[in-house]
Amino acid sequence: MNKSITRMCTVCRTIKDKKDLLRIACDKENSVTVDETGKSQGRGAYICYNLDCLDKAIKSKKLDRAFETNINEEIYNSMRGVIIDKEN
Ligand SMILES: [Zn+2]
Repeated sequence: MNKSITRMCTVCRTIKDKKDLLRIACDKENSVTVDETGKSQGRGAYICYNLDCLDKAIKSKKLDRAFETNINEEIYNSMRGVIIDKEN
């Protein structure tokens, strides 16, 4: 049997296949990056490829809280770009 690796969206808490979630990584220096490879060092949080979840993440600051840091607008904008790419 093929066991798929699952992760949970930090925002809507839906459990999905890891490949269906966008990984956001936070390194030791608290710098947050959009981890399109899913392999970056550091702590990871996951979010659906979904603008709804992204907007909720921005409003609720759930990702900021998960990493205990402030995620700047640039990061959110690059997340938006990746999500839009994926949707098309
Ligand atoms: Zn979600």
